[in-house]
Amino acid sequence: MIEIKNLTKYYGDKLALRNVSFEVREKELLGLLGPNGAGKSTLMNILTGFLASTSGSVSINGHDILEEPKQAKRLIGYLPENPPLYPDMTVREYLKFICELKGVPRTNHPKQIAEVLSQVKIYDVANRVIRNLSKGYKQRVGLAQALIGKPEILILDEPTIGLDPKQIIEIRNLIRTLKKDHTIILSSHVLAEIQSVCDRVVIIYDGKPVAIDTPLALSKKMSGSSRLSLTIGSVSELIVDVLRGIDGISRISKLREENGILQFDIFADPGVDIRRDIFEAMAGNDWPILEMRMNELTLEDIYLSVTAGAEQKGG
Ligand code: ADP
Ligand code: MG
Repeated sequence: MIEIKNLTKYYGDKLALRNVSFEVREKELLGLLGPNGAGKSTLMNILTGFLASTSGSVSINGHDILEEPKQAKRLIGYLPENPPLYPDMTVREYLKFICELKGVPRTNHPKQIAEVLSQVKIYDVANRVIRNLSKGYKQRVGLAQALIGKPEILILDEPTIGLDPKQIIEIRNLIRTLKKDHTIILSSHVLAEIQSVCDRVVIIYDGKPVAIDTPLALSKKMSGSSRLSLTIGSVSELIVDVLRGIDGISRISKLREENGILQFDIFADPGVDIRRDIFEAMAGNDWPILEMRMNELTLEDIYLSVTAGAEQKGG
């Protein structure tokens, strides 16, 4: 239903999306999870036709977003990162304006507006000026404008960002009710947000999907793997090379080097216990192991490791 093929996006020389391909199924709630700067908003802006990709294609129910933009866009309701609300309008005036923008026949305006007002539960503020609404209510008005025109697909960019915990729960519940009648793509940089409501998750990092699956399958895939914290009482440069020579290690990252001590985080393949091999390799070189601790990996671990990488790069 939504086909994303080989999308690449450059902003000048900055590569923001790297050859992204995946599909979104009908009536699916797909979560786009990734740290700030991963490319979520860029991808959503391309899916909705607000931004042109550098290469690649997007097809919405068979309509190419660039070749048949009218047909494709009619199927999509979009809540961008910063919804274009007009602060001086009342909620009702604003939604009427959106009806006109989206070409809803004038005779249908009152009925459509009444419907979306009740869908997102903002009937009581319909005649208030948008400027004076709380952040939570403004976000609902943003959702309401996305729903005008009865689009099949909703694309919601971090709809809970900046809301308090109570408002977050309310928006989350609202999204759950919208799921019955819509295909939804929801982005967030918060794992819990995505894990609790989504059918499938795309984890995006540095412009590229690094994992696509159901939250359960992702957790399971991870649960066989493990992360080992290893502290060695030597700073020999050969230690990393020796570790690299051990089978079953998928990734080694050096965390710290100080006072003659080296500390590593080591990711092991599912079902492999590398502790004995590490012990033998270190002992054979007279590198004392000061600590070795193994932890099962959860979905949160991979997301945290991805996020930590992003923070190091950004900061
Ligand atoms: P996210 O929504 O996941 O936080 P974005 O899609 O906003 O990520 O940004 C992806 C990358 O592209 C970031 O490195 C960001 O700085 C860069 N970027 C976004 N918009 C622009 C722009 N208009 N011009 C230049 N770089 C941009
Ligand atoms: Mg964003």
